[in-house]
Amino acid sequence: MNKSLVAIVKGSTDPDASQIDALVREAVALTGGLGSFVTRGDTVIIKPNLIAPASPEQGATTDYRICKCLADQVRELGGRPVIAEGSGTGIDTEDSIKASRYDLLRSGGYEVVDLKKSRTVLLPVPKGTVLSEIMVPEIVLKADAIINVPKMKTHGQVLATLCVKNMKGILPDSLKKKFHTTYGVFRCVAELATVVKPSLNVVDGIIAQEGLGPLLGTPVPMGLVIAGRDPVAVDTITALIMGIDPYALETSKRAAELGVGTINPDEIKVVGSRIEDVSRRFKLSSEAMYEFLHMPYGFDLVFNEKACTGCRNGVLATLRDLEIAGRMDILRGLRIVCGKTESNLPPTDKKTLLVGACTAQHKSDFGFLGGCPPNCVDVLAAIMAWADGDAK
Ligand code: SF4
Repeated sequence: MNKSLVAIVKGSTDPDASQIDALVREAVALTGGLGSFVTRGDTVIIKPNLIAPASPEQGATTDYRICKCLADQVRELGGRPVIAEGSGTGIDTEDSIKASRYDLLRSGGYEVVDLKKSRTVLLPVPKGTVLSEIMVPEIVLKADAIINVPKMKTHGQVLATLCVKNMKGILPDSLKKKFHTTYGVFRCVAELATVVKPSLNVVDGIIAQEGLGPLLGTPVPMGLVIAGRDPVAVDTITALIMGIDPYALETSKRAAELGVGTINPDEIKVVGSRIEDVSRRFKLSSEAMYEFLHMPYGFDLVFNEKACTGCRNGVLATLRDLEIAGRMDILRGLRIVCGKTESNLPPTDKKTLLVGACTAQHKSDFGFLGGCPPNCVDVLAAIMAWADGDAK
């Protein structure tokens, strides 16, 4: 059996630009080199994670020096590198480009493109069950190759956001939102992975992030670059390094079920450093949030057994925002319920807000917010509506 190859390269936890260049080149070489899929004249999309305005030191966005090194290698092969990203829903990508210093690359003559301003085209999804077609930027569809450059970090809704999840960033805001509110984000991201297929995935683990990711977590200097052709296999190995069960990564697991790659560690060959020599247990977003949150008296938070991490972490992330804003008091007298239940909900004197599509069977009796999982912004809006007296 041919195993998926994943390279782990470890360097200094505080590398300079030349050391980062060397790390990336070593990782790419261990996977077979860019020359195995880039030829003269090719346009190559380099897709970082620029979720929101954040400096490289925060560990939330892909280090611009990694993308520079990849762009340089594409140029050395006679190709045209295009660094392209669309930040999170509602966020101006140009603000992220400046904060994460990609403007330095732009002023140095590299193409850095905001995908939110790009023309989109419809792409059929033959294996889709929730998506029959998907709107993607034309520049991505027409590219000869894609290099996916995600960040190694924990995430409030999908445990860790790595290779498979990172490609959601190419989509227009309207579709990103629908992934949560209408289609179900785990399944949709997996179905996207069946039709938009990076030729190489290079995880930025130079300064990773744990805890309240994907934006507000704690930086973790790791000095790592992890690379491979199979995005699911790279996610699996990166998750193991972070002390996370790869099968708990819903997006990667569903991508594996659709044949995108392998999630089984026995089917992956690791080259470079060994997992056990570079691993470190990352604090999950949910663990960090429970440390941080001060639940007010008179508030019930009910996570039924079947509530998966998407809804759990989405609600906790929303409560974190209320905690930061000093508004936890508005939760008094509210019960929030996540996760499917077969039986009736226990009676309560509190107003009840059902969160997530799989609580829909009770929606005639209580306040209800759909989505799978719902977007945190929508959870916050639903709680605020309750506070204003609109909920049941
Ligand atoms: S709606 Fe249900 S399946 Fe979807 S994320 Fe929430 S708990 Fe999970």
